[in-house]
Amino acid sequence: MPEAISHMLEPHSALYLDTRPHVITEGSGIEVRDEDGQSFVDGVAGLWSVTLGYSEPRLVEAATRQMNKLPFYGSFNHRTNDVALALAADLVDIAPIPMGKVFFGNSGSDANDSAIKFARYYHWSQGRPERRKIISHSCGYHGTTLAAGSATGLPHIHHGFGLDTGDFLSAHCPNPLHPSSRGMSESEQVDWLMEDFENLIEEAGPETVAAFISEPILGAGGLIIPPAGYFARLQEILARHDILFIADEVITGYGRTGSMFATTEFGLSPDIITTAKGLSSSYLPISATLVGERVSAALAEGSKQIGTFGHGFTYSGHPVPAAVARETLAIVRERDIPGHVRDVAPHLARGLDKFRGSEAVRDVRGHGLLGGVEFDAAAVGREPGQLGQAVLRAAKERGLLLRAMGDTVVFAPPLIITGEQIDDLMERFTAAYHDVV
Ligand code: PLP
Repeated sequence: MPEAISHMLEPHSALYLDTRPHVITEGSGIEVRDEDGQSFVDGVAGLWSVTLGYSEPRLVEAATRQMNKLPFYGSFNHRTNDVALALAADLVDIAPIPMGKVFFGNSGSDANDSAIKFARYYHWSQGRPERRKIISHSCGYHGTTLAAGSATGLPHIHHGFGLDTGDFLSAHCPNPLHPSSRGMSESEQVDWLMEDFENLIEEAGPETVAAFISEPILGAGGLIIPPAGYFARLQEILARHDILFIADEVITGYGRTGSMFATTEFGLSPDIITTAKGLSSSYLPISATLVGERVSAALAEGSKQIGTFGHGFTYSGHPVPAAVARETLAIVRERDIPGHVRDVAPHLARGLDKFRGSEAVRDVRGHGLLGGVEFDAAAVGREPGQLGQAVLRAAKERGLLLRAMGDTVVFAPPLIITGEQIDDLMERFTAAYHDVV
């Protein structure tokens, strides 16, 4: 069956299977359709990212208008295009805390690589070149390029790729279900995590650590919501050691949690915020790294020493994705998408709550339009990871696409979803669960 074989090196896929992937060919609203003509509710918005759904005409028009006017002009050597400049101003305007400048890239991975490089450059320009180490969580996901992949904690992202393990340090996952913290109250758990974090810094040598990077809610690591008070305490430690804080808002930015940025909701004061996905509702690739005053001033100072700032991509500030991002932000504000998320999130919470206490369910968690059901595969005699996959297959049969991280099935639908559509999504999921368990 030669026509059944994929010639594409498929990302994050079991390449050894060498079978035809599930091929999506059309999308409308919160639904997609595959090459066999079957429709699915998209419970994960593509890759947590198609926030405005699959048929927003204003985004298509914005791209077309810009294509006709100026399809490309880059941003090197102090020459750029009007759209990139305007988008940077928009982002500084809506940033959750005062931000100095914005750097544009194409993906969440390159936004995080950029943030990591900026943190090192910051310390270098201040006369501390030995501050190179980066701390991240063992369950954090920051992408797969060399630096972002090194900061990603998940083992399969590291194995075989020779990523940097020397300068990247791994902090405990702030998972309330962590076996070592069983029986602890939330505040006891935070104490325990802080002690561990301090020890990690002491062992590494505080004078060698450049930055700590974390998602406000850890998505691909299994939808982990850190215990209350976690970030406040962590930020005190970072400030005490002059370690920069990078908030990875690639999933949470632009409305998903019910705020424009989760930074506001979680009381964070990051030096750098990385964003992508929802910035353009994924209609075109673009990332934005928001850089605080202190760091952007140091980048300028460093570039003075060298004569230029040696970082940037051909497509940094590409005018077409930038135009789509400007239109996305306009829609998000006009329609108050964060407010809509707050209005409909209780439908997701109610649907998830019904799974609490179920035989094969270890935990249920959610925030805004992010949700997760963590299964206990062993409780129903299955190998770890198998129950999540089995429920995904059953959900697909029922016209629902979801993703699983191990045995945690995650929900991140397009943010335009209505309360009734969430109820329908959860009914399909419940039926799929009962097909399997
Ligand atoms: N950061 C977070 C929190 C993510 O979830 C992802 C991707 O899912 C990334 C970074 C990497 O983004 P990309 O796949 O666009 O490189």
